[in-house]
Amino acid sequence: MADDKKAVKKKTTSKKWKMYDSSGKRKNKFCPKCGPGVFLAKHKDRLVCGSCHYMEKTEKSDK
Ligand SMILES: [Zn+2]
Repeated sequence: MADDKKAVKKKTTSKKWKMYDSSGKRKNKFCPKCGPGVFLAKHKDRLVCGSCHYMEKTEKSDK
């Protein structure tokens, strides 16, 4: 019996974006499509969901 199959590791959601603030702040909004639990990644002028690629414009010129 040559059953040398390697256990396939589960692919977790990409952690390309840091959605959490180290201070515990959770400012990011939830994705309306994926529901609570999936945050929108903050970009320059928009929020993007890393799961379903939902995009939301944020026209905030805060200076
Ligand atoms: Zn989403």
